[in-house]
Amino acid sequence: MGKFKLKLSFLIVSMTIVVVLAASSISIWSSYQNFNEILKENKADMQATYVKEVSTITEDYLQGFVTEDMSLDPYVEQVVDTLLDERVVSFRLFFKKIIVPIIIVIAVVVGLAIWLALKITRPLKDLSTRIEIGEGIQGTEEITDWYYEAKLLKKNVRNMMICSESKITDLTEQLNLDSLTGIPNRRIMDQTLQDLIVNKVPHSIILIDLDDFKSINDTYGHTVGDEVLKAFANHMQSSMEEQDLCFRYGGEEFMVILPSRNIDEAVQLAENLRIKQALQETVCGRPVTMSAGITAFTPNVQSPNQLIEIADHALYKAKQSGRNCLCVVGNMRQMIIK
Ligand code: GH3
Ligand code: MG
Ligand code: MG
Repeated sequence: MGKFKLKLSFLIVSMTIVVVLAASSISIWSSYQNFNEILKENKADMQATYVKEVSTITEDYLQGFVTEDMSLDPYVEQVVDTLLDERVVSFRLFFKKIIVPIIIVIAVVVGLAIWLALKITRPLKDLSTRIEIGEGIQGTEEITDWYYEAKLLKKNVRNMMICSESKITDLTEQLNLDSLTGIPNRRIMDQTLQDLIVNKVPHSIILIDLDDFKSINDTYGHTVGDEVLKAFANHMQSSMEEQDLCFRYGGEEFMVILPSRNIDEAVQLAENLRIKQALQETVCGRPVTMSAGITAFTPNVQSPNQLIEIADHALYKAKQSGRNCLCVVGNMRQMIIK
């Protein structure tokens, strides 16, 4: 047999049946009891009236107010009238014995209905509050899901949260990655540089530009140009160590951020990459060389742009010096390395 599921529809129907049956049984039983009581009281009143009226007639008879030749009919009629009047139940008695018990039963039923309604809506309200304040999956854990539909809703909301959280993680990753080369993009590069500068972490940067790249596109086509860019990104990443961070700066320009490395280490890494790149086989069949501007963080650097401008200026100098070379700006010097 399948596991029993406490469904809301079943719960509401069965609770309604139980409450209606209980309420009507109580009402019928108490009305029956009270009616009996009223009839008993009525009977007692009638008896008292009857005795009183008969004794009045008897007294009148004995005192000679009624003689043998007089008719007793008016007297009897008077007694019957009075008795019939007594049979009418007073409103006060009816209210006390019938209306009040019914009101009590209705109040109890309404109270029970309110209590049940609050208990049913509680998990739904809790769930929507947790979603609204963005507590995440953990926040939904302690919601009491005592009936089937609440359980189902909680389970689906939690699944949806897990799904959207993983989608957000994926999207955030994609937002920070360059779609062509798959390496981190300029957005995350700016953030990384900003963090290093704000926290005054010593670091060096290498700004790289592929030489005469336009002519590769013009000669071999844009698709081949794309493949060259991808291959260079791979080559650059594999030439660096784990703590060194590679980014696509834009177009055929790349950036390497070297946290905790001084300018001489940066020059060493850049020179290795430049030499290997010049010898590297490429998809277009001809060498694709690179030029780079290198600089290092100093305490007077306030922003990423300030540091990038220095590296860009150095890169410009490298291009002016005939390409396939490095220009270093730092330690009060500017030097071309070929
Ligand atoms: P220089 O040595 O002075 O840097 O010359 P260059 O030709 O490399 O520089 P230029 O700025 O004249 O040209 C850069 C070219 O890079 C032009 C542009 O079409 C190409 N480029 C930029 N982004 C992409 C890309 O995503 N894919 C391809 N295939 N080409 C790109
Ligand atoms: Mg360029
Ligand atoms: Mg270029």
